[in-house]
Amino acid sequence: MNKTRIMVVEDEAIVSLDLQNRLQALGHEVVATATSGEAAIKKTEEVSPDLVLMDINLGGNIDGIEAAKEIHKRFQTPVIYLTACNDEKTIQRLKLTGPFGYIIKPFEERELHGHIEIAIHKNHTEKTLRESEERYSLATKGANDGLWDWNLETNEIYFSSRWESLLGYAPGEISQDPNEWFNRVHPGDRERVNKEIAKFLEGNSHNFQTEYRILHKEGNYRWMLSRGFGSRNPNGKVSRIAGSQTDITERKLYDPLTGLPNRALFMDRLERLIGPASPQKDFSFAVLVLKLDAFRRVNESLGYSIGDKLLAQLIQRLQNCLHQQDTVVSLGEDTFAVLLEKIDSVTDATHVANRLQEALGHPFHVESHEVYTTITIGVALSGTGYNHPDDFLSDAQTAMYRAQDLDNGRCEVFDPVMRAQAVASLNLETRLQKALEREEFLLHYQPIVAIEDGRLMGFEALVRWQPQDGSIIPPNEFIPQAEKTGLIVSLERWVLWKACSQLRTWQLLAPDSELTISVNFSPTQWHQPDLVPMLQETLLQTGVHGRNLKLEITESTFLKDTETLSLSLKKIRDLHIQLHMDDFGTGYSSLSYLRHFPIDVLKIDRSFVRSLEVNSRAKQIVKAITNLGQNLQMKVTAEGVEHPEQLRELQSLKCDYGQGYLFSRPLDNETAERLVLGECFWQKAFQVGPALSDSKGEGEDPGDHGLPNG
Ligand code: C2E
Ligand code: MG
Ligand code: MG
Repeated sequence: MNKTRIMVVEDEAIVSLDLQNRLQALGHEVVATATSGEAAIKKTEEVSPDLVLMDINLGGNIDGIEAAKEIHKRFQTPVIYLTACNDEKTIQRLKLTGPFGYIIKPFEERELHGHIEIAIHKNHTEKTLRESEERYSLATKGANDGLWDWNLETNEIYFSSRWESLLGYAPGEISQDPNEWFNRVHPGDRERVNKEIAKFLEGNSHNFQTEYRILHKEGNYRWMLSRGFGSRNPNGKVSRIAGSQTDITERKLYDPLTGLPNRALFMDRLERLIGPASPQKDFSFAVLVLKLDAFRRVNESLGYSIGDKLLAQLIQRLQNCLHQQDTVVSLGEDTFAVLLEKIDSVTDATHVANRLQEALGHPFHVESHEVYTTITIGVALSGTGYNHPDDFLSDAQTAMYRAQDLDNGRCEVFDPVMRAQAVASLNLETRLQKALEREEFLLHYQPIVAIEDGRLMGFEALVRWQPQDGSIIPPNEFIPQAEKTGLIVSLERWVLWKACSQLRTWQLLAPDSELTISVNFSPTQWHQPDLVPMLQETLLQTGVHGRNLKLEITESTFLKDTETLSLSLKKIRDLHIQLHMDDFGTGYSSLSYLRHFPIDVLKIDRSFVRSLEVNSRAKQIVKAITNLGQNLQMKVTAEGVEHPEQLRELQSLKCDYGQGYLFSRPLDNETAERLVLGECFWQKAFQVGPALSDSKGEGEDPGDHGLPNG
């Protein structure tokens, strides 16, 4: 063990010598002696003893207590007093100097030794503590994070000055009240943060972590991450939590991929423009929502790395068209929003929109690829009385959807009628969803007949919606919405299953007939990856043969992903299911798909059939379609046959099948069953001569057989 290095301060030479001898005998080392207070201070500085033994009454200007005070202050060297004075006044004075011991002369050696040992040990402990405190204080000052220490028993909280400065406050400006913290947390985050803290207090983990926005002195919110450790008392209750708070605003508010502000920052800026302190009296602002169709295509076909490069170019072009103060944000894969500040009028906003369309309309060159995109834009303007940024953005989105409905690549400005329509369509969506769950749909069946002799060939299954109030809603009022929301897929699968089950029932009633059933499929259905197995499964479960099922396809189906579709159609062919081209002539104008896809029947749209008797152009078109069908070995069905004259024309054009009110409206299943069992409601239409005109009584609907209409 190291010897303790001691300085002896004693003005009586004999006493000093005696003490030195005794100390050496105890194994200590006397490194210095002094006889006055001044000398003691000087020698402490020179030799840095471990301990000073100090007499109180000394020669010189200052006494032992004054000297000890100075030594303790300047060098933190521990001092033990050795004195004969034990009057109350002296004791009070020396107490104030924080002595490490106090020995009344005369004393025993053992006593001296004990005091020295204790003083050295105490000094060591204090030194370690002092160093650790210094370390902590330096760390606190140097740390970029704010620190906090919450005593749950007293409910007091210590905030470091960095914690305060993160919120824009000077040291000491925030009091030690936890509410100083929690009352500043954004109202939208407060409940969650409280829950997270409560969960931590109840549970048994030692640390917790939470993110929230907190109000800065300047009135804006900053994003913070707080991490804390708790210490628990023996019964498991947390008595204290301490931790750090880090400013994560940059990370939270900017998208790392694009460097653009994210939605939270965008909303924050919008909120400030809308809010009560907004400068909007002097100027207007607008939100533009842009949809670009290129991303999805590029990501799907060329991969995400090309997609990211395209994105970078696109953002560059966008920003070149905008002012510094305008904010661009990405709302998802292919959608962006732009906040235009300081515009003077609606036309300013639409000018910017046109400029963006122009700038983004030129092709992009990404590696060796040339990429084009359409830009559809919706605009919402300030001054419409918005209170919430969400409403503002959602109106711009509604306008964008409207623009998309009208035509890709358009720009539409929001008006309140759109909002009403958007709300209505949302309500419809919810009702449709419920209707599917409750099976509120039913099928009507419209006969398809041979044009030559009126033979019943089969039926087209047409869906109706019968809500609980008993009314019947026609398909054009809900199919478009079901298509938009994707509900159409389940709905049509139900239709298919129902139609096939019905056909099976009829086949058992009339085993000799080769009746068929036609089912309409929307483009979304045709592009479902499980289409073929789903069809196989339905045929198997209902016991219907593929040759008795016809699926109606529309031209717009061929606009997308034709390779996969072509594969599915071939497999469907293998199941002997026929493909009927519905509403032929009304859609997409290229006829090339007729060569690529295995179509069996063309259904001439009723708009051409309607004008058949009055319009020779319509007649030419119908003629061209029937010829096309004959040349390509396809059959032709005419839709919407209402008048006997139309039937005659179709007969002369050698059209194969017909469907229309002249024969029958769509029928409920019971009425349709009478046809299956051999009744016929439309013989008259096929009787030539006077009988035909006889049948056409005034005001009589040619399809009216006193039967229920579809
Ligand atoms: P579509 O497939 O072209 O069906 C024929 C429509 O023409 C039916 O209307 C039918 O009632 C009507 N129609 C038949 N003959 C005549 C006629 O002589 N004159 C007139 N003016 N109309 C006639 P509906 O039942 O209202 O269906 C309308 C459309 O709804 C259908 O047109 C079809 O596109 C769609 N639809 C019906 N059911 C479904 C379905 O299950 N899935 C899908 N995706 N669409 C369906
Ligand atoms: Mg159809
Ligand atoms: Mg049709």
